[in-house]
Amino acid sequence: MNLKPCPACGRESAILVPTDVVYCGNFECRMKGPERDHDGSKWNALPRLPREGKNTMSKQTTRKSEAERALLRKALVALVGADGKDELLGMKAVITNEMPEHDSDKAAALGALQALLDTLPEAANG
Ligand SMILES: [Zn+2]
Repeated sequence: MNLKPCPACGRESAILVPTDVVYCGNFECRMKGPERDHDGSKWNALPRLPREGKNTMSKQTTRKSEAERALLRKALVALVGADGKDELLGMKAVITNEMPEHDSDKAAALGALQALLDTLPEAANG
């Protein structure tokens, strides 16, 4: 019997092991099918989400999260008033050295600067 794609991750990576259980071969998924599934028919009977094609959904999700990241970054840049590695590191140094420890804005400002530094576009890195 041809095993259908994994119901959890959609990959065509289903493996029927000799103990009569189908596993997903995708290391990030590792879905286990029903017990005593000697020919994979129980695995194939599991409900599956409709998919447009292989990995279509994950590509769309990646593109969406990239767009969301850019949007959040833009908002944070407007709030902090700085972008670019040198500018951000300069501000971080000033805040670390100049702002009093008990100022509650200090942690928030440092967190915002760190988030911007962590999400610098590839081209601006280094
Ligand atoms: Zn899977």
